[in-house]
Amino acid sequence: MTTTGLSLEIEGVIAELQALSQISEAEPPVVTRVVFSDADLRARAYVKGLCADAGLKITGDAVGNTFARWEGSEPDIAPVGTGSHIDAIPNAGLYDGCVGVLGGLQAIRVLQKMGYRPRRSIELVIFTAEEPTRFGIGCLGSRMMAGVLSPARARTLRDKEGRTLEELRTAAGFTGELESVSIRPGRFDKFIELHIEQGPTLEQEGIDIGLVIAIAAPASVRILVEGEGGHAGARLMPGRRDALAAAAELILALETAAKSAGAIDTVATVGICDVFPGAVNSIPSRVRLETDIRDIDATRRDGVIEFLGAACAAVSARRGVSITTELVNADPPATCDAEILNALEDSAKSASKTYKKMVSRAYHDALFMARIAPVGMLFIPCRGGVSHRPDEYASPEWIGSGIHVLARTLAQLAS
Ligand SMILES: [Zn+2]
Repeated sequence: MTTTGLSLEIEGVIAELQALSQISEAEPPVVTRVVFSDADLRARAYVKGLCADAGLKITGDAVGNTFARWEGSEPDIAPVGTGSHIDAIPNAGLYDGCVGVLGGLQAIRVLQKMGYRPRRSIELVIFTAEEPTRFGIGCLGSRMMAGVLSPARARTLRDKEGRTLEELRTAAGFTGELESVSIRPGRFDKFIELHIEQGPTLEQEGIDIGLVIAIAAPASVRILVEGEGGHAGARLMPGRRDALAAAAELILALETAAKSAGAIDTVATVGICDVFPGAVNSIPSRVRLETDIRDIDATRRDGVIEFLGAACAAVSARRGVSITTELVNADPPATCDAEILNALEDSAKSASKTYKKMVSRAYHDALFMARIAPVGMLFIPCRGGVSHRPDEYASPEWIGSGIHVLARTLAQLAS
């Protein structure tokens, strides 16, 4: 098919993004939209309304994932999916996730308007709770769709107020068995997510589109160091079993492991160091460290985790402290599909957009969709690389470029 004459009408999408941002638990322009909050439900209703206006057939599952389908001429074959999320962390901006949802919808409308009829259906997906704000676990909806989070574990999830996922989703009107949320591989022929970069590269280099080749995934290891406390003055240095001094060695060991892993894509961070009792004149007796270790290569990432484990054993023996570790999660990284990548590249070329191949260092719903479908992702720039803040910004031109390339790619893959 030809997509010359593809008319974007970007002003309309910007107006819709602005309207969506007004549906917030915080005072606009600050966006706070925690899953199953009143704002989340109103935002869903707004987006569903737009999808219905575009003639899409809307369905949903038991955890609130929403599917808006543009029926193809062969409705029985697997659709091409696109989409993202509309939930937002507290004090967020209006582009993260929403660009992929409203941009995906606009890509569909653009194709409709030019008279294109897809062979495969094209399905816009709005995932539930990409952000971990409420239940402490990211990508809840896509994780359950991919079968990575079991219904049994999902039933144990609670928010800070102690309300369960079961209680909250039911109150929000999402009923039915959680068992029905997971989908089989093949349900989607392919899946593509449009997203802001959330980093500075594209803007700095003046590039329109980032073609994602791989999505890094975090592993999280919790470390508990237990030593012996005591009076900071009375207890002399020989024979001390200071839990924080031991933890300090582990923090540096993790940094060394990531730096010496041999690839720029390996990163490791200790973001939480909880010291007990936390008094200036008391030797720390207990320390909890929470680590985040990411890579696009699972083997290399697991190598860092092993190195950390060996450091724990060595420090424990040398300092006489007890160290226990718990692997909190370890999602596998994803590699993007070569055919989708080619289609995106073709589309960027024919739309005369500049592009570069890059790694997604943040994770997205596409990471979990990759378990059950070939996936692709395209990034657009965001000003200063700023995200998860009210001053997050992507220009209409950047958004327009993303929608343009997405529309061409969807058309190519659905033909
Ligand atoms: Zn996002």
